[in-house]
Order: sequence, then structure tokens, then C-alpha cells
Amino acid sequence: MAHRLGTSSSDIVAAVDYLRSGGVVGVPTETVYGLAASAFNVEAVSKIFRLKGRPASNPLILHIHHQDQIEQIASTIPKSLPRIVEEFWPGPLTVVLKSKSSVPEIVRAGGDTVAIRLPSHPIFQQLLAKINEPLAAPSANRSNHISPTTASHVEDDFPKEPFPILDAGPTATGLESTVLSLVGVPTVLRLGATSVESLRQILPDLTIKTPSHQSDSPGTSKRHYAPQTPFFVWSNQNLTKDEGVLIFGTPTPDGVGHIWDLSDNPFHAGKRLYAALREMDQSQLRTLYVVLPNLDGVNKNDWLVIMDRLRRATQSG
Ligand code: AMP
Ligand code: MG
Repeated sequence: MAHRLGTSSSDIVAAVDYLRSGGVVGVPTETVYGLAASAFNVEAVSKIFRLKGRPASNPLILHIHHQDQIEQIASTIPKSLPRIVEEFWPGPLTVVLKSKSSVPEIVRAGGDTVAIRLPSHPIFQQLLAKINEPLAAPSANRSNHISPTTASHVEDDFPKEPFPILDAGPTATGLESTVLSLVGVPTVLRLGATSVESLRQILPDLTIKTPSHQSDSPGTSKRHYAPQTPFFVWSNQNLTKDEGVLIFGTPTPDGVGHIWDLSDNPFHAGKRLYAALREMDQSQLRTLYVVLPNLDGVNKNDWLVIMDRLRRATQSG
């Protein structure tokens, strides 16, 4: 089983040593927990793919602690980048740029672009500063499973793997970073914790690619984030005691045995969403449902990411 470290400076030094020796480490970020390895160590990066069961066609995000490191990784700096960096970094925004050929192919999944993020989580920042090189880190879950928002979620997904996890408690946003490509027309490849509205203020010609274009950002494949238990959008079916329902502050369907209410506040709901999906999955219920949030009279943009994840976690989407 993965073993937990805390967040003291000696824990961070231990994590740096582990990474320098080619190991992988579970790391807290403001979005979800990541599984980090030295980006320029091909052997270490290949461990991430092996552990997660991640297809080699799905590239990894590189994490940095200072924007000067962009030059080590990207071959071209688009004109719009400085403003994006100024406005959104550190934070939950990943930027896709043309890659330098020195970035290992395994990181880029053989493509000519690279994804970069400067995270805001203080512990992850300390780790990145101390190791002083980019870390590749996808979410610390088995491929296609629900992303982890606590250290124990990471342990649940990797019960037999002896890597350390820096445990900094539950993550702040609970949803992944937004992936923005600045190669060609600015395009959101994955909806996430940075809103499309806020990006549009700087990039008025921003477009959004739907999950069906998944080869551009393979982590956006249609079925993802899904519990093992059958999970459907509720559309007035009769429910029974051995079924569970996820709601967002709306009335509960009659007859259902178990209720997870994430509230009608999209930010609170986003923070709790993955933990709730994991709990629902572990509660041995026959079937799970979600009553989709009531979007009448609210800012629908605030619900875009949650709607996206629910669509891909349920079998009706
Ligand atoms: P995760 O695996 O949870 O860290 O998610 C990373 C996301 O970033 C996935 O959707 C990847 O497909 C996407 N990504 C990483 N690198 C690139 C890249 N070079 N071009 C496009 N998307 C990328
Ligand atoms: Mg992921």
C-alpha cells in the first residue's frame, strides 16, 4: 500500500529524494491529487503509465514552480501567453504549447505539443521549488476512474503500490484544471476549475472542443469518472431502498434509500463531487441515479464543468 507522508519540510525532502531516485509520489494540488514523476526521466514517467493503466496515447501535464521554466519546455511562446500567465497562474489552468523536442516523447504521447501548469497548492509548490525541475503528474487514480480529492482516495486506487503520498488534506476545488490549447485558435480541450467566461475576457475568440474530439485531449474521452455501480440520470423512475441518488439541493425522489445532497452551490458541489461518487460506489447499492441540477434562473456557466463530469460519469450520456 502507498504510505503517507505529512507536509513538513522533512517530508518534502523525502519526496524529493524519492523522485530523484526515479520513483513516483502522490502529490496534493488545488484541483485533485496527482501522481508525480521527474518529467525528464523516461523510466520514472513510464511508471506513471504502468501504475495508472493509462494508454500511451494520453499525454501528461508538466508542473512548474516558476514561469521561467516554460522556456525549458515550450518551443514557441504565443503572444497571448503572458497575459494568461499573469491572470491565471498560479492556479487550475493548464496551457498546451508547441513542445521542445527535448521533452521526452512519452510525456507528449508522441505529439508535438506539451501541457504546462503552475499550480497554486503551497505544498506542491514547495516540492516543485525544491526539486527545481518540471514534474509530470496526471491525476492519481487508475485510468478512467474517479479523480482523487484525498490521500485515502489515492490509497484506495493503488492498494498494493508502495509509493509515498504527501497528505495535505482534501483538495480545494475538487475538479481538474481547465486545459487550454494556445496552438492555433485558442481552444478549451477540457472544461475544468478555471471558467470559460474568465478565459474569454482575455481570449474573445476562444472555442470549446467537445469530448467527441477526444484525440486532441484523450483524458476527455466520453466515458470517464464513472463509478462501477450502474449510474443513470434520474428521469422519474420509481426508486427503491437499495438505490442511491445524488442531488443538488432539489427535492429527493420518493422511495429512494440513500441520498447525497451536494447543495445548489456549484463551487461547494464541485469540491465534493468526486468524494460523493466514490462513497456512492462503495455503499453496495444496486443502482445509482443523479437528479441533474435545476439550471433555471442560475448562471449556467457555473455548472458547465459539473454537467460535463456527470454526463461522462453516467451511462445515459
Ligand atoms: P490528467 O490525466 O487527469 O492529468 O489530465 C490531463 C489532461 O491533459 C488530459 O485530458 C490530457 O489529455 C490533457 N493533455 C495533456 N497533455 C496534452 C497535450 N500535449 N495536448 C492536449 N491535451 C493534453
Ligand atoms: Mg485524470
